[in-house]
Amino acid sequence: MFDTLSDRLTAALQTLTRKGRLSDADIDATAREIRIALLEADVALGVVKTFIARIKERAKGAEVSQALNPAQQVVKIVNEELVGILGGETRRLNLAKTPPTVIMLAGLQGAGKTTLAGKLALWLKKQGHAPMLVACDLQRPNAVTQLQVVGERAGVVTFAPEPGNGVGDPVDVARRAIAEAKHAQHDVVVVDTAGRLGVDEELMKQAADIRDAVEPDEVLFVVDAMIGQDAVTTAQAFQDGVGFSGVVLTKLDGDARGGAALSVREITGQPILFASNGEKLEDFDTFHPDRMASRILG
Ligand code: GDP
Repeated sequence: MFDTLSDRLTAALQTLTRKGRLSDADIDATAREIRIALLEADVALGVVKTFIARIKERAKGAEVSQALNPAQQVVKIVNEELVGILGGETRRLNLAKTPPTVIMLAGLQGAGKTTLAGKLALWLKKQGHAPMLVACDLQRPNAVTQLQVVGERAGVVTFAPEPGNGVGDPVDVARRAIAEAKHAQHDVVVVDTAGRLGVDEELMKQAADIRDAVEPDEVLFVVDAMIGQDAVTTAQAFQDGVGFSGVVLTKLDGDARGGAALSVREITGQPILFASNGEKLEDFDTFHPDRMASRILG
């Protein structure tokens, strides 16, 4: 498949003997390899440029340590910078001082929102919370049933509009759900919203209306890691149209190298909170910047 970035850098620097400092020529040679590897990992071009400028800056002044050869030294710098861009530490979920905490999910159709709702519910339950799912995707046929199914699997309650009442108004459902959560003492509410195949104004307006009605503690933008560079335009559209406080990356079990993670984090400035890596409810974890950096580095 791919040469890993570590391999490329080692190859580019193998002619070097140990020196006191990396020369500009060494740094330029490695920058080229980093650029190719990041583009292959599907990182957006603008992000690649910024990243390389940062690496060059850092590598210039770096002393070559006794313990590491020049290639290892550069790999170390690249790794540290990647971890930094990806958020450094894992960012924890914001919980409301007065329950219920409201978490709203937003993203394109097929991104994995409904599956994520079940995963998040199970994860929250294991953390000792009493979550409730809310079906506000009233557009896609079967979306409500699909949420109810994942809710059952996770062993949590799903709030959904009563069948037979027509399509229904998702904002009204969201409002009633919050009232019900307070009444039934659910401390976390996860609101699933409708997606479209592409970004459109109606979708954004509906999501923004739901947001205004439920005043979420977190809006999580759910994005399929497999869409690569398209993640950037989609993320920007959701940031402008709805706004979000965190990102969830799905389908990391596919062969995507994780460039989407780097691009979305860098472009939107919002942290990645969780990662999904399979269709089962257990295929889910908090996001670890260091693991993602290793994946991108190869
Ligand atoms: P939604 O339209 O955003 O609600 O997306 P869904 O939750 O319906 O997911 C769309 C498809 O992706 C379904 O077939 C899911 O089983 C699948 N899916 C969701 N998350 C993952 C994941 O992390 N890995 C894989 N391989 N498939 C996933």
